[in-house]
Amino acid sequence: MSGYRNARKSSRRRSSVTSASVNDPIDIARSFARDVVAPNAARWELERALPRQAVTEAARAGLGGLLAPRSLGGAGLGTSALADVMATLAAADLAFAFVLVVHNNLVGAIARRGSAAQHEQLAAMIAGERLGAFLLTEPGGGSDAANITTVARPDAHGWVLDGEKAWITAATHADVLAVYAQTQPGSGARGIAAFLLDADRPGVERTEPYAMLGGHAMGAGGFRFTGAAAGPEELFVPAGEGFRAAMEGIDAARAVVAAMCCAMLQTALDAAVAHTSGRAAFGRTIADFQGVQWALADVATDLAAAGHLARAAAEAVEHHHPDATVAAAHAKKFATRVAMTGITQCMQVMGADGLRHEHPLARHLAGVKIAQYLDGATEIQNVVIARRLFTRNGTTPPATR
Ligand SMILES: Cc1cc2nc3c(=O)[nH]c(=O)nc-3n(C[C@H](O)[C@H](O)[C@H](O)COP(=O)(O)OP(=O)(O)OC[C@H]3O[C@@H](n4cnc5c(N)ncnc54)[C@H](O)[C@@H]3O)c2cc1C
Repeated sequence: MSGYRNARKSSRRRSSVTSASVNDPIDIARSFARDVVAPNAARWELERALPRQAVTEAARAGLGGLLAPRSLGGAGLGTSALADVMATLAAADLAFAFVLVVHNNLVGAIARRGSAAQHEQLAAMIAGERLGAFLLTEPGGGSDAANITTVARPDAHGWVLDGEKAWITAATHADVLAVYAQTQPGSGARGIAAFLLDADRPGVERTEPYAMLGGHAMGAGGFRFTGAAAGPEELFVPAGEGFRAAMEGIDAARAVVAAMCCAMLQTALDAAVAHTSGRAAFGRTIADFQGVQWALADVATDLAAAGHLARAAAEAVEHHHPDATVAAAHAKKFATRVAMTGITQCMQVMGADGLRHEHPLARHLAGVKIAQYLDGATEIQNVVIARRLFTRNGTTPPATR
């Protein structure tokens, strides 16, 4: 079997340090995916709600503080191991896994950048008692993130926030909000700061969650800020560093999303091989037809290539390689693309059975479509890649996210 799973195994053989720190969370994720996520994901989607209790259980099992160092109560993993864990969960359901991706990224960011007072929030987050969310996108747009319009004005007590955030994972249930806001309107990326706010404070209101193609277990929705007060101690990332901090997290998230798409495609390919091997037409099993074999062979090739790109991107981000941003863009663009075409192909060789909810393929197809927007749409990955291409050739790069 090819793809991310094999790329992952060979990478773990290369690094005994990574292997030692990864074993437990991977085992936990495998059992949790098998026992909790796979049997319930179709129901969660029908109920159209984030399964808060299951998220707490996952955190209690050890999946709530993967990126925080052990000294702060976390598992001390890096981006590669996080990608392994989240791919293992996404093989059953991307929506559930992505809630944990966002939560873990915020826990890791607080551990890395937060003040001693902010570190006090970590224990409850790592235990899953308080859920984190990342608030960058706004109703006016997500791609042009340097031009956010949520404003943070300084006042005698700290800051006052006004504005609206949209398309926020876990918005329906999040307790700890990392809110990106403009402190000097008109200054673009230079004026962006981030604040850590409680979701239940006066002036913070959840907006209606979205009805979507799928992925309702993500609890995607928004927040409105109307004169919401933030004390000086709630400033998380100061102006001048906020945009860069958001983009650093986004590189890692893109590598993780790529790995998650590979995992969904692997699930689809396994289902298609099993189904076509057990079903007959015209006096033969469907898997005996060369047309079917070759269609799935092409999916396997795409999966192998995407798996290597995802692995390379996660390692580049983890080791702060200068090409990490471009590697993450390549991996996310390619993995989402081949997962979209590959899952469709797997469904096709399964005939009408491929549409049924007994198989996760339809859910994964919706998951991959969602993944094409998460942490920057496909076109924005091309903006990143083209910027590097033209910079290397000495021409002026286009200025976008
Ligand atoms: C389910 C879900 C969960 C999400 N969770 C979060 C979250 O937790 N936190 C958060 O902050 N955001 C989140 N997002 C938002 C996500 O990051 C945005 O959807 C994404 O950045 C794209 O922004 P947009 O949807 O506003 O599209 P727009 O910015 O309106 O873009 C529309 C289209 O134009 C294209 N486009 C834009 N600029 C260019 C360009 N320069 N060149 C070529 N094409 C371009 C885009 O690629 C896209 O295809 C989530 C989105 C979804 C769907």
